[in-house]
Amino acid sequence: MGSGQVTSSVPSEPSDFQGKHVTVAGLGVSGVPAAKVLHARGAIVTVVNDGDDARAREQAAELEALGVTVRLGDGATLPEGTELIVTAPGWKPDKPLFLAAERAGVPVWGDVELAWRLRGPDAAPWLAVTGTNGKTTTVQMLASILEAAGLRTAAVGNIGVSLLDAVLGEERYDVLAVELSSYQLHWAPSLRAHSAVVLNLAPDHLDWHGSMEAYAADKGRIYEGNRVACVYNVADKLTEDLVREADVEEGCRAIGFTLGTPGPSQLGVVDGILIDRAFVENRHKNAQELAEVSDVNPPAPHNIANALAAAGLARAFGVPATAVRDGLRAFRPDAHRIAHVADIDEVAYVDDSKATNTHAAEASLAAYESIVWIAGGLAKGATFDELVAKSAKRLRGAVLIGADRALIREALARHAPEVPVVDLERADTGAMLQAVTEAKRLAQPGDTVLLAPACASMDMFTNYNQRGDAFAEAVRELGAGA
Ligand code: ADP
Repeated sequence: MGSGQVTSSVPSEPSDFQGKHVTVAGLGVSGVPAAKVLHARGAIVTVVNDGDDARAREQAAELEALGVTVRLGDGATLPEGTELIVTAPGWKPDKPLFLAAERAGVPVWGDVELAWRLRGPDAAPWLAVTGTNGKTTTVQMLASILEAAGLRTAAVGNIGVSLLDAVLGEERYDVLAVELSSYQLHWAPSLRAHSAVVLNLAPDHLDWHGSMEAYAADKGRIYEGNRVACVYNVADKLTEDLVREADVEEGCRAIGFTLGTPGPSQLGVVDGILIDRAFVENRHKNAQELAEVSDVNPPAPHNIANALAAAGLARAFGVPATAVRDGLRAFRPDAHRIAHVADIDEVAYVDDSKATNTHAAEASLAAYESIVWIAGGLAKGATFDELVAKSAKRLRGAVLIGADRALIREALARHAPEVPVVDLERADTGAMLQAVTEAKRLAQPGDTVLLAPACASMDMFTNYNQRGDAFAEAVRELGAGA
C-alpha cells in the first residue's frame, strides 16, 4: 500500500452544477432521483433511456414537468454539449454512449460517485463493504454494532436504501454502513472510505466486467484512499492482493479476518470466542475478546466470517468490544438467508434461496453435516464440479429443479455417483412442493433439507424471495400433514 492523491477534473462543489450540461443515463431507481437533484442544483439535465415502456413514460412525464429533457428509446447517443454523465450502475461500460463519452473526454459517474460528491462538508464517514457474497448481511451486522455503540447510523447503498437520500436527507448520521456492488464501484472513481472490506472474490458478473481481473480491480477500488483500515479475508488471497495494490492514506492499516487463530493485526476465533488482535494495545502480546460464536446469528462458518469483517470495520471506527457483542446479538438476518423454517420428524428445513451462485451455495452447504440438497435454476454460465466435489461427503441426497439442473446432475454423476438424485422436470407452481416431498423422503433424522440453489430463480419464480416463500410454504404444508 502506498499513499496517494485524489485527482478530479469535474465539479466537486454542489454549486458547480449551475448551468452544466449533465446527461443522466437510465431512468429508474437511481436515475430519477439523480435527475431531480441535479436539476435542483441548476444543471441542464437530459435523461436518456433505452426503454420506452409505460413505466418509463410515466417517469419521463414526471421529470419533464420539472423541466428536464427526456429521450426515451435512445440510450446510445451522447447528447450534444454533455459535460458529465451520471449513469445507473448497471449500464455496461462498453455501451456506445460511454465509448462516445470517452472519445469526447466526458467523465462518467455512477449513483455512488454522485452521492459522494454531493455529501456536505460535515458528512458522516463511510464504512464500506463489498464482496461476491455476504455484503448485505455484513452491512446489517455492522449497522447493528454501530447502533449498539450509540452511534447514529444506517445501512445504505446497494441494499435498497439510496445513498443519495442518506447523504442529502434531513437525518444526521455519525457514520454510514455502505454496501457497494462491483458495478457501483466501477463508476465511483473518487470514493474514499474511512475503512473498507472486500469479503471474498469468486467469479460473478463476468459478462459485465469482461474478465475476472477487471471484476477484481473494480472490487479493489473500495480500498482506494482508505484512511484507517483495509480489512481483508485471510482465507481469500485475492482480497489481500487488492489491499496491497491499493493507494491509501498514510498510516492506514491492513487488517485480516480469519476463522482460525488470529495473528497480530487480525481478528479471528479461538475456542468459540471472536478475538481482536488488531485494535488492542500491544497487539503482539494482547488480544481482546469480542463475542462468542453463539452470539452470531446463525453461527454458520461463512456468517462468522461476516461477523468478523463487520467487527473489523466497527473496531477501526473505535467501537468498544461490548458493542460488537451487543450488536451481533441484536442482529437478525434478512429473509431467505439460511432461514430455519421448521423441524419435521427430526429433520431441519432451511431456506437459503439467496444462495444464487456456487460460491454462496458452497458456504451454505459447509454449514451442515448431512444434507438433502435442493438445487437448480438458471446457472448463469457457472460450472458445478468444484462445488459438488467439495460438498459430496455431506450429501445424503439431492433434488434438482429448474432449467439448468442437468449441469448439476452431471457434476453429481462425476463427483458423487453414490448420492441419490431426484430430477424434477416440472416447473409449474406445484414443483416446489414435490421437491420438498422428495427431499423429505430422502432425509433421515438429524439431516437438514437445504434449499441452496446455486442458481438464479427467474426460470421458475419472479425472484429468490418468491422461490424461498414457495419452499417455506411447501415445508409448512408437509409439516401439517406429518
Ligand atoms: P450479498 O448481499 O453479497 O448477495 P447476502 O448477505 O445477501 O450477500 O448473502 C447472500 C448469500 O450468500 C447467503 O444466502 C449465503 O448463502 C451466502 N453467503 C453469505 N455470506 C457469505 C460469505 N461470507 N461467503 C460465502 N457465501 C456467503
